[in-house]
Amino acid sequence: MDSFDFISYHRQIRHMVKPYLADFERNSNSKKAMQHLIDRVEDDLERRLTHEDRCRVACQAGCGSCCRVNVAVLRPEAVNIADYLQKTRSAAELRDLKQRMKALRIAISGLDDDERIAVRKNCVFLDESGSCSIYPVRPLLCRSITSTSAADCRDALAMHVFGESKPVMMNLMQKNLMNVAFQGLASAMEDQGLDAHGQELTAAVLAVLVERDVLKELC
Ligand code: SF4
Repeated sequence: MDSFDFISYHRQIRHMVKPYLADFERNSNSKKAMQHLIDRVEDDLERRLTHEDRCRVACQAGCGSCCRVNVAVLRPEAVNIADYLQKTRSAAELRDLKQRMKALRIAISGLDDDERIAVRKNCVFLDESGSCSIYPVRPLLCRSITSTSAADCRDALAMHVFGESKPVMMNLMQKNLMNVAFQGLASAMEDQGLDAHGQELTAAVLAVLVERDVLKELC
């Protein structure tokens, strides 16, 4: 396969999403930015991954063993996930989810990556069957995980708790593509004068949902 120009890819993503981010808190443009971005990266990935690459990827619904690590999201990702939850959950489900999000946020607040793995708390969006319940809008950094062995992932996480490490082979094309897309989105946000720091997933989505509740009460 020919080499991929990630520097140019970063520029393209930055250029593509930037117009949607102007004034994005006050309109639905963050949704459009994320729709375009997700469509673009998934489309590019589809074209870049070979049949052999796909055969080697072990990640699948029902595994979820890596879904207990810190995941950083950017604000447009959090807004997109909040939109999805409000569209797909009943009022009672959303209430219950927010309670669980608050509890998890407290449990993992301030933990570094090692500590987060050690407390063995699943992502609040991992369902009982071990699948991601927000799969269509899952964060870019979740999309970057492409293990070639579920057993190696489980071993690596278990060993990590005891300060030992085990390498997990990943598909670097997918990992780099998603990481660069994340960085391109962050650069586009900076271009628009927005805060481009990554925030922990649960806290970021909960903040959007709570802000909307407050707004509703005020109206
Ligand atoms: S958002 Fe989905 S893929 Fe990402 S950690 Fe949570 S359950 Fe796993």
